[in-house]
Amino acid sequence: MDIGGLETVVANSAYVSARGSVDGAAAATMRDKKMRARLKLPHIRECEHMKTKVDSTFDSMCVKQPVGKRLFQQYLDSDATHKNAGQLWKDIEDYVVCQEKDRLQKAQKIVNKYFESKSKTFCSFLEEKAVTRVKEDHKNLHGDLFKESQQQLLKHLEKNALTGFKNSMYFLRYVQFKWLEGQPVNEEWFMDFRVLGKGGFGEVFACQAKATGKMYANKKLDKKRLKKRKGYDGAMVEKRILAKVHSRFIVTLAYAFQTKSELCLVMTIMNGGDLRYHMYNVDEKNPGFNEKRACYYTCQIICGLEHLHQHRIVYRDLKPENVLLDDAGNVRLSDLGLAVELPPGKDTTNHCVLFTGPNHVCFSSQVENEEVARRIINDPVNYTPAFSKDCKDLCEGLMMKDAATRLGFKNNECAELKSQPFFKDINWGRLEAGMLPPPFVPDPRMVYAKNIDDVGAFSSIKGIVMDNKDDDFFTEFASGNIPIPWQEEMIETGVFGELNIWGENGKLPNDLDP
Ligand code: ADP
Ligand code: MG
Ligand code: MG
Repeated sequence: MDIGGLETVVANSAYVSARGSVDGAAAATMRDKKMRARLKLPHIRECEHMKTKVDSTFDSMCVKQPVGKRLFQQYLDSDATHKNAGQLWKDIEDYVVCQEKDRLQKAQKIVNKYFESKSKTFCSFLEEKAVTRVKEDHKNLHGDLFKESQQQLLKHLEKNALTGFKNSMYFLRYVQFKWLEGQPVNEEWFMDFRVLGKGGFGEVFACQAKATGKMYANKKLDKKRLKKRKGYDGAMVEKRILAKVHSRFIVTLAYAFQTKSELCLVMTIMNGGDLRYHMYNVDEKNPGFNEKRACYYTCQIICGLEHLHQHRIVYRDLKPENVLLDDAGNVRLSDLGLAVELPPGKDTTNHCVLFTGPNHVCFSSQVENEEVARRIINDPVNYTPAFSKDCKDLCEGLMMKDAATRLGFKNNECAELKSQPFFKDINWGRLEAGMLPPPFVPDPRMVYAKNIDDVGAFSSIKGIVMDNKDDDFFTEFASGNIPIPWQEEMIETGVFGELNIWGENGKLPNDLDP
């Protein structure tokens, strides 16, 4: 074996072993003790001043932010007036994600416990209407059976429990966590593993958050290359959008920081590699996917695009190398550097989207951009015999020249598209809840990335000098921890549980004593 090949083997084995240790309890063993010790809640006196400044709107603090929600639920549990409501909330959430076979039993239990006026845990704040609907409906089960009730439950809690929470020690604990979340991060917090891929402004590495053991991907953007090639706007858009969207079909951004020479985006690691790799590099003689697999990925891509469109974001960079597979074989969209956010009132963007689709628009020969555009606009598509009728119909519908008849996002959803015959075997509800088993599961011992040598190096950039304006931009970019994913990491890796310890008498946390 040559030295390059050996380097890849060694790097792969370090990466695979770090990755493998990150399920559940084993993550703790991979932590760097010194870095873990730096994750420490401050004395409440140190963050008292933040009490009025932290994000404390009900929906954000008590529902969306995982640590805030946990603490709010602990408060509900500790308070006799709200205990029932808190339990109902947990039971509904448990119902939503339960297996089909357990649905009936769980629904029945919830109805008996909270919806029957003679039950001692009856929730009188639920509106009559919703109560009746649930009682009538629960033989006819679907995941959103209790959706209306949950909305009423949350409204009730906002009105009746938010103030109590804000006056409780649980809120002070939330403030302590917000302080910790706001601490600066830099490269010291991460350990790099092998390179996973290469982009326009730098490389993407597998990395590990040293303090918790959680694996991420670190997309490094070279500052000089960004400046030279006018990449600032794209980088900022990518960061802003990734920090804003939270969907299982789009990679999540957890940290944005800078080093001397790079801007870094730390996001969900997609260990299964990109779809381009699977189409062309896994079985070189037999490229592409069968229709079942193509259909499954298409569905998840549609859900990702739908989520973006609902947030008025146009993606504009859909291609196989930007769609990535996770450990379980689900795909997410990544690479939002070309995306745009539409301002209110504006519904189109002036950038032509080049979607090469299922290999039928021929880009293989060197053709000029104008010729490519001409072919896309004028030429009919040639489908190979591998395309079924349903699949062909879908492609035609998606590529209608007239935007009004083209399949896509209408009335704030993709309902028409999802109901096409090509998707007739798909249960969209289960797919959207992440419960549909993927058609292909990546091998946990495999590395779905090119050999390190084949990733290709960058040439060094000369003659670029940075000034204050550049530094201002870098500072704005490097905003640190992104709240929701950071809190998720703390919970998932057990750090939240280790830090969220209360004082001896079971009432005051030990650091709250005067
Ligand atoms: P660019 O914007 O320069 O195209 P990308 O974000 O597409 O950069 O990243 C380049 C490549 O790096 C991708 O095609 C993919 O192979 C790999 N990659 C990117 N993000 C991840 C990730 N989150 N997990 C695993 N691999 C990734
Ligand atoms: Mg890309
Ligand atoms: Mg990009």
